[in-house]
Amino acid sequence: MTVKDKIESLRKELNTHNYNYYVLDNATISDYEFDIKLKELEKLEEENPAFFDPNSPTKRVGGEITKNFNTITHKNRMYSLDNSYSKEDLLDWEKRIQKNLGTTDIEYTCELKYDGASINLTYENGKFFSAVTRGDGFQGDEVTANIRTIKSIPLHLSDEFISNFEMRGEIILPLEGFHKMNEDRVANGEDPYRNPRNTASGSLKLQDSAEVAKRPLDCLLYQVVTNERKYKTHFESLQAARNYGFKVPKTITLAKSIDEVLEFVHHWDVERHNLPYETDGVVVKVNSLQQQEELGYTSKSPRWAIAYKFKAEQVTTVLNEITYQVGRTGAITPVANLEPVHLAGTIVKRASLHNADQIEKLDVRIGDTVFVEKGGEIIPKIMGVDLTKRAEDSQPTKYAEHCPVCHTPLVRTEGDAKHYCPNEFGCAPQITGKIQHYISRKAMDIDGLGAETVELLHKEGLIKNYADLYDLNVTQVVPLERMAEKSAKNMIEGISKSKEIPFEKVLFALGIRFVGETVAKKLAKHFTSIDNLSNASFEDLIAVDEIGDRIAQSVIDFLSDENNIEIIGRLKSYGVQLEVSQENLANQTNKLEGKVFVVSGVFHQMSRTELKKAIEDNGGKVSSSISKKTSFIVAGDNMGPSKLAKAETLGIPIISEDDFIAMIN
Ligand code: AMP
Ligand code: ZN
Repeated sequence: MTVKDKIESLRKELNTHNYNYYVLDNATISDYEFDIKLKELEKLEEENPAFFDPNSPTKRVGGEITKNFNTITHKNRMYSLDNSYSKEDLLDWEKRIQKNLGTTDIEYTCELKYDGASINLTYENGKFFSAVTRGDGFQGDEVTANIRTIKSIPLHLSDEFISNFEMRGEIILPLEGFHKMNEDRVANGEDPYRNPRNTASGSLKLQDSAEVAKRPLDCLLYQVVTNERKYKTHFESLQAARNYGFKVPKTITLAKSIDEVLEFVHHWDVERHNLPYETDGVVVKVNSLQQQEELGYTSKSPRWAIAYKFKAEQVTTVLNEITYQVGRTGAITPVANLEPVHLAGTIVKRASLHNADQIEKLDVRIGDTVFVEKGGEIIPKIMGVDLTKRAEDSQPTKYAEHCPVCHTPLVRTEGDAKHYCPNEFGCAPQITGKIQHYISRKAMDIDGLGAETVELLHKEGLIKNYADLYDLNVTQVVPLERMAEKSAKNMIEGISKSKEIPFEKVLFALGIRFVGETVAKKLAKHFTSIDNLSNASFEDLIAVDEIGDRIAQSVIDFLSDENNIEIIGRLKSYGVQLEVSQENLANQTNKLEGKVFVVSGVFHQMSRTELKKAIEDNGGKVSSSISKKTSFIVAGDNMGPSKLAKAETLGIPIISEDDFIAMIN
């Protein structure tokens, strides 16, 4: 086999595996084998630049940076859709098109309205050529490099579908991936994203395509645009597109009448809550392409299609009060306190108002009757004000000027939507918030001390920062409310034991803004001690993989603050781990770099925690669930049967504790 043949056959094989996994949701190879083949292809491509192909599966990981997105004029305009909200609206539409076509013989396709960002994919001779956003419908931004990273989008079609065509679809962020992204953000002290739709559309315009590759985006296709008359109906063309490798949802359905359309609508109005992604309605399209052509377009939308919008789950209630919450970083969040009301199965009493701009934009005032809606967000949202119900003497809301707790004047830096209380070391919720973060499970994991006790200890004047914890003694603590000799002892012991917690966790526990668990691990591994980290310059910091400007500046600000310097000095004097231990350093290798492990069952030579630590110390990653990304499963006694079954279907190698030890020695 020539090199060229080898490269082509690897590409083809990897494309097929991608397709099976991301489109058919049916893995046919283990992640480990996939990676080996991908590495092999990468190597061959590197050695043989003549066979470069932007659509090679090796290009899916991104890496290309786009500073300015090119504006591209669409060959075929991307229209909006007319909306309908009731059976009457749909019947009116039916009447209009029947009259227009001079027949009642019309079939429809029903599709869900996928809630994301529209995209136009161009293919030339079976190869992915470009991707452009809808923009204003006439022109959009070229986001090809970013779109290429979405694994369910075919880059090479299995066969000749149509020689030149466009494929229209929606880039979406499925709910599970969205929630996972938000969990990570919250753990890193960042604000969660508001909803999947905005996050999906924001992802398209990221400058670094490698960042896009990390997001669990997907693309659902809904229209083939071509001049060739290969297919007679819309439904048929979508079925064909699916056969050629596009992800066309199986939910699309043919309807012979508006009554059948309504059945589809009613079914999905309920069932949509069980879908893995968001939808806000149904799109009904005339099925015959010939009839579509006859009907044509208005200035804004096709006459042959209409969107049916599901009723948003919205209620009205009275806004009683606006209060302000102070987070551990000092960020202020205004909260709407509502007259309790039923909404989508829960009783809602509070809604987030996000920030001062939002309050101003909505012009929401105390005593107003407001519209409250539950969307993709976890916390309900205020959509607007029912002005007909506003009292004559109502006054515009004046945003808080002082911290609700410590009364320090709030500050707001330019470009930041949030107000902050700058009194970092004197504002109770910031002080207790930082200590609560310090003791939390993922940080110092202090047993015997909970969030409420922290508040109590602070109220009693016993602690002002986390270093003070180590000065506490049993006699001081026993007299506190709900404390007994035993619980006091447990608490002091727990605090003392935290001196053994490794440096990377201490670094996370310090609560430096933007330094979440993963970043803390990176920094600890790279700089190995707090002293080295304190001495690092901005350039030193950003030279570390995945450390950007924002993190670097935050680390520098934190470590040059007098108060923090003193607190860290004290932690050091108590024996808290402020450097990677020698023992740890000695045990660290890169032997498992790039490998993902799942640990399951009971072990004999090491505890599960030790095993996980050994994986990470040797550069590997530990994951809690088995997926295509898993390289090995380390199985002890009594591995769960469902895990076993999943491992077998995905073909992931299962190794024993001994195998693992051999691997790292
Ligand atoms: P609108 O933005 O409300 O005018 O709705 C039109 C948009 O709906 C299109 O640009 C698509 O991005 C989106 N859409 C989502 N699902 C579909 C679908 N099944 N068929 C057509 N358009 C869809
Ligand atoms: Zn304050």
